[in-house]
Amino acid sequence: MTEKFDAIVIGTGQSGPSLAERFAQRGQKVAVIERKNFGGTCVNVGCIPTKTLVASAYVAHMARRAAEYGVDTGEVAVDMKRVKARKDAIVARSRDGVTSWMEGLPNGKVYRGHARFTGPKTVSVNGANLTADKIIINTGGRALVPPMPGIDKVPYLTNSTIMDLDVLPEHLLVVGGSYIGLEFAQAYRRFGARVTVVEMADRLIAREDEDVSDTVRKILADEGIDIRLGAKCLSVEPDGKGVSMSLDCSTGAPKIRGSHVLLAVGRRPNSDDLGLDKAGIATDAKGYITVDDQCRTNVEGIWAIGDVNGRGAFTHTSYNDYEIVAANIFDNDPRRISDRIPCYGLFVDPPLGRIGMTEREVKAKGVKALAAKRMMTSVGRARERGETLGFMKVVVDAETRKILGAAILGLNGDEVVHAFLDVMSAGLPYTVVSRTVHIHPTVAEYLPTLLEDLKTLA
Ligand SMILES: Cc1cc2nc3c(=O)[nH]c(=O)nc-3n(C[C@H](O)[C@H](O)[C@H](O)COP(=O)(O)OP(=O)(O)OC[C@H]3O[C@@H](n4cnc5c(N)ncnc54)[C@H](O)[C@@H]3O)c2cc1C
Repeated sequence: MTEKFDAIVIGTGQSGPSLAERFAQRGQKVAVIERKNFGGTCVNVGCIPTKTLVASAYVAHMARRAAEYGVDTGEVAVDMKRVKARKDAIVARSRDGVTSWMEGLPNGKVYRGHARFTGPKTVSVNGANLTADKIIINTGGRALVPPMPGIDKVPYLTNSTIMDLDVLPEHLLVVGGSYIGLEFAQAYRRFGARVTVVEMADRLIAREDEDVSDTVRKILADEGIDIRLGAKCLSVEPDGKGVSMSLDCSTGAPKIRGSHVLLAVGRRPNSDDLGLDKAGIATDAKGYITVDDQCRTNVEGIWAIGDVNGRGAFTHTSYNDYEIVAANIFDNDPRRISDRIPCYGLFVDPPLGRIGMTEREVKAKGVKALAAKRMMTSVGRARERGETLGFMKVVVDAETRKILGAAILGLNGDEVVHAFLDVMSAGLPYTVVSRTVHIHPTVAEYLPTLLEDLKTLA
């Protein structure tokens, strides 16, 4: 027997639950299917737990610096069991919130199990058959395990399994010098572990401009993190209680030994076990579900939102996908993916706030542009706080005066960059920021001064 719904939402990541609520609010009957933890990656094994770990690590770091501020402490000790307990409590609160939200939806029915398409309008879960004219896929992604020689013979951690760790690794080898790997690397170093970051490319976070990569590398290296770049031929093998890793580095020892290995080399979409072929839903070569500018798949009545569509890789892009689909279905408002400006953070300390194009992208496009850059040592608030690492830079269109992109690597950079983002989004010139009076003493008050430095981008 097949149960009929108005809508079926598969996965409770960062967009499915909100959309389920919109259907329910309209009096429509909605099925919500989740195979594991309500709230998905961000809540359980992504943004929220990593930021709680980063917060504990920051406290440890500042406690070690306490004497610089005239404050005496005893020797700083980190209790990993309590660090984990704090993280678990914060995660549980969010997960429980999503769970009770979905369980309490009027007109909603929750299924706990793995959903698979059996046809373009039908889904099976735990032996039950469901049908609906509208089906939303919000199944997200998981850590990519690279085909590295020996990886099947050694224990390794991913962003998910490292969340269960309540001991300090003696030596953590982080494979992948990008956004996810670097946050863990700095946090565990600050907890007291020896940490080595192994990166295949010749610089960290290679998507960013060189000056961003180099400054982040220096900040991490100064904290005692060993960074091996250009590690092109990685392989691993068991070594006593730990793991031995062979590298093909241009510098440094060719083999390193660690107690734990964390794989942080990218993500893959949760689309391979969804029965997409039964519904005729198209994917790209990497398995991301192909969608148009409004998150519609190639099959009428089926949308794919969040990381699984490959059009974003963040909580805010997933949530924006929800807004786009809801606006199109319920509000006759043709919102589109292409309306959004790229923006994201790297939550090492100090954080990086990034919006729009990089300087390198602007140059590659051949746009006539102006650029300005200032070190955080010039920012009064950063000096007062004793946190002067990093810099801020901005690129604007020389003709329209609109902001093309910015990077703020420094105290509160993840927050301050929004002053530029909102002006970009409004389609206004940078002079709006220059002419705005900001609060003293803040990092944001320095943005007009930064803009005074705009010069032709060579
Ligand atoms: C370590 C880490 C740190 C991160 N930090 C940040 C950050 O600081 N800021 C940021 O913006 N983003 C961050 N991200 C990315 C962010 O977590 C994701 O972009 C976000 O969770 C969006 O995911 P989603 O909505 O696509 O689905 P997900 O959150 O991935 O959820 C998908 C859900 O679908 C369920 N599911 C999958 N298949 C099925 C099935 N067949 N049947 C039933 N249920 C299924 C899963 O169990 C899961 O609950 C981070 C990611 C990681 C890994």
